[in-house]
Amino acid sequence: HAKAPPVLECRGIERRFGGIVAVSGVDFSIHKGEIFGLVGPNGSGKTTVTNAITGFYPPNKGSICLDGKDITGTAPHKVAKLGVARTFQNLALFNGMSVLENILLGRHIHMKPGVLPTALYWWVARPSEIRNREVVEEVIEFLQLESIRNELVDGIPIGLKKRVELARALVAEPHLLILDEPMAGMNQEEKGYMARFILDARAERGISVLLIEHHMDVITGICDRMLALNYGEMIASGIPKEVVKDPRVVEAYIGG
Ligand code: ADP
Repeated sequence: HAKAPPVLECRGIERRFGGIVAVSGVDFSIHKGEIFGLVGPNGSGKTTVTNAITGFYPPNKGSICLDGKDITGTAPHKVAKLGVARTFQNLALFNGMSVLENILLGRHIHMKPGVLPTALYWWVARPSEIRNREVVEEVIEFLQLESIRNELVDGIPIGLKKRVELARALVAEPHLLILDEPMAGMNQEEKGYMARFILDARAERGISVLLIEHHMDVITGICDRMLALNYGEMIASGIPKEVVKDPRVVEAYIGG
């Protein structure tokens, strides 16, 4: 039978902000179960690409297909409903709320913090949602967050905060997970845990992953393929072990 379309296919993505071309000519696709790395120096356009996919800043040119369906310009909440979950470069957890409460919100919001009251109402108004509870409990167990479930997120270490963010994304039961620097600020041990969880999420849930990451050891360690950007343009793509040795990539990192 016909080969399944890629989970994600970006073709000729361009996005401008005023006179600035943040990204142009960005082409890549992610197949089912792939962990795909996106790298590049600060300002190279990585976040702009994820914002184009998730609908926060639709592209000015090009197309984005999810499972073969064109979703270019689709609103963020609709993209989320189609099975795309993301974590943010800067933690987007709600201080003053517990680990559990933060994770619960992942069942209801797929957007930036502004919609909190609606989400809370929804949760309070629908206490009998057994399925929500089941998914949340299962993810808490998967990410080994049981012992801190009732702690406020404010005081927990960064490695665990990132893990709570991952949990919040996973309870939405995505099939495409976009992780924006999930290991930023982590020590070696915390990075190891996070890498393991990403690999397990793929293996056990068949999730495809777009991974933005600065740590090249992580990229070469867990990504199947990768793309490097510089000044908003593609400079190399392919197998991580080869791409990281590409002179243009080396130059972008050392020169930049
Ligand atoms: P990266 O994620 O690789 O650090 P970004 O995608 O954040 O890069 O930024 C790429 C370029 O687009 C930068 O020049 C940045 O200043 C610009 N840019 C990104 N988002 C916006 C925005 N909302 N408004 C104006 N310029 C932006």
